[in-house]
Amino acid sequence: MTDLHLTGHRATETERSAIDAALAASGIDPVLSVETDRLVRGGLHRAAERRHALLPALHALHNATGWISHGGINYIAERLGVPPAEGFGVASFYEMFRMEDPGHTDDVVHVCVDGACQLAGADGVIVGLESAGRHAHRSPCLGQCERAPATFTQGNQGRPDHVEADALSRSPVIPQQGDPHLRILRRIGKIDPGSLDDYVSFGGYKALARAFALGSEGIIDAIGTAGLKGRGGAAFPTAVKWRGVRDAPGETKWVVINADESEPGTFKDRHLMELDPFAIVEASTIAAFATGAQKGFIYVRGEYPLATRRLQRAIDQARHAGFLGQRIARSSFAFDLEIRRGAGAYICGEETALFESLAGFRGEPRQKPPFPTTHGLFHQPTAINNPETLVNVLDIVTDGGEAYRAIGSPDSTGSRLFCLSGHVARPGLYEHDFGATLGDVIDAAGGISGDLRAVLLGGAAGSFVGPDALDLPLTFEGARAAGVSLGSGAVMVFNTSSDFSAVVARIAEFFRNESCGQCVPCRVGVVRQHELLLRSAGRSMDRTLIDDIDRAMKDASICGLGHTASTAVASAIDLGLIGASP
Ligand code: SF4
Repeated sequence: MTDLHLTGHRATETERSAIDAALAASGIDPVLSVETDRLVRGGLHRAAERRHALLPALHALHNATGWISHGGINYIAERLGVPPAEGFGVASFYEMFRMEDPGHTDDVVHVCVDGACQLAGADGVIVGLESAGRHAHRSPCLGQCERAPATFTQGNQGRPDHVEADALSRSPVIPQQGDPHLRILRRIGKIDPGSLDDYVSFGGYKALARAFALGSEGIIDAIGTAGLKGRGGAAFPTAVKWRGVRDAPGETKWVVINADESEPGTFKDRHLMELDPFAIVEASTIAAFATGAQKGFIYVRGEYPLATRRLQRAIDQARHAGFLGQRIARSSFAFDLEIRRGAGAYICGEETALFESLAGFRGEPRQKPPFPTTHGLFHQPTAINNPETLVNVLDIVTDGGEAYRAIGSPDSTGSRLFCLSGHVARPGLYEHDFGATLGDVIDAAGGISGDLRAVLLGGAAGSFVGPDALDLPLTFEGARAAGVSLGSGAVMVFNTSSDFSAVVARIAEFFRNESCGQCVPCRVGVVRQHELLLRSAGRSMDRTLIDDIDRAMKDASICGLGHTASTAVASAIDLGLIGASP
């Protein structure tokens, strides 16, 4: 057995009970510790088997006392066989964990300072909270851009985390509710997200029955015919991914749902999880059946407590009704789902970083290849998709690939969710068949408040476009031809009153804070870029230097964060939103 190098600090009874409860919920026997025969004989392999419970244990410890204490980390180390130094290394990676005793037991209010919330006066909200004696924390995007300025309250001493909308049972609904053209969003507002019966009475679980009839090859064929591409930004063909996992060597395969929606300006997956959670559960089960997985994880960002609770309730009901677990819907197929909460790290939305985080390590991206289809979670074959991509699978399986392919354009089939925020009359989540232009999408949200100056497409990792882009078709091919990306569907609108030097400086600060620091060009480049913007205060700045930083990060970074960290800044200069010397 390895020496864990425990320190002399002991956990309190409260901390021990909270950690034990979290470990039990993650399938870890609370009685066993690294001192027991079973673990000693099992050695490091058994410790590795347990490490995936580290993040839930850290959440429980933090919620019990408001910080990651030395005694608590020692106790987790004993239970999981993870040295305390490594436990601290993992905990300190995440924004939501405080590493020092705050000296109070109050809940902490996280206030979003990105994009739409910045425009809506987030700084004033922080001042107001602090003058009222509350503990406020400047936060990156909280995924509530449609109700900016957004807050998220992190509970302490066992109190639950919550967001403003928790008090409302079916809210917020979507602006297009009731529109007969809706596809992905058609159930929203019409069914109770807490009722499996409602979901079934609206056609729920017909797709799973059809999937069983089609078999794995039939499902993947239909998805291939449909031309479904991932909705997370990379637009990778879903059928290729699923076939790759199914055909990969290895007994154990995984389905992972990437619900760590953290791109500033993006809130689509939160709506699906809060308002149509059974659709995600059903589609995940189809993904598992098609790829040969027996177990799945939904990795939900830590700042989404309502989505987490509603998904958990949906999973519990589905399991109780025989739609998860052994012999699903009286077939021979077995599959189960577990939720894991992130803890505030944008980079964990990158798929390999997410796998590391799920396995109990710092969420640092891996080099690719190898790809997740062969080396995903626990380095085993893994189908990873976001909720929006998965929900599309239900109609494809039910109605067939050809029917789906008839919607949209030849290279961008189906419909797409767009997150409208900023200076539009009705911010919110909208669905449009592919082919709608940027102007159509803004018009559907009630049009621009004021005079349009720019739109940030695709979030902080995306690009600013000007008023001349209103005719741009928001398809994969249309975006590619214009040299921009649809990313995760964020459409952030800015009128002529916007302070672009502050907006762009905040984007640069965001990347400076969120870089994981593994690659030198990214670690140094994001800091230099932010410094340049602060120094110039939006006036003339050295464009050559920005280009050099951009090139170094693009050429030598492991992951997409480094590749895109300068995209918005460069496009802001090109559009004249901020100044630059040639
Ligand atoms: Fe980390 Fe940046 Fe490298 Fe990505 S590019 S792995 S965020 S240092």
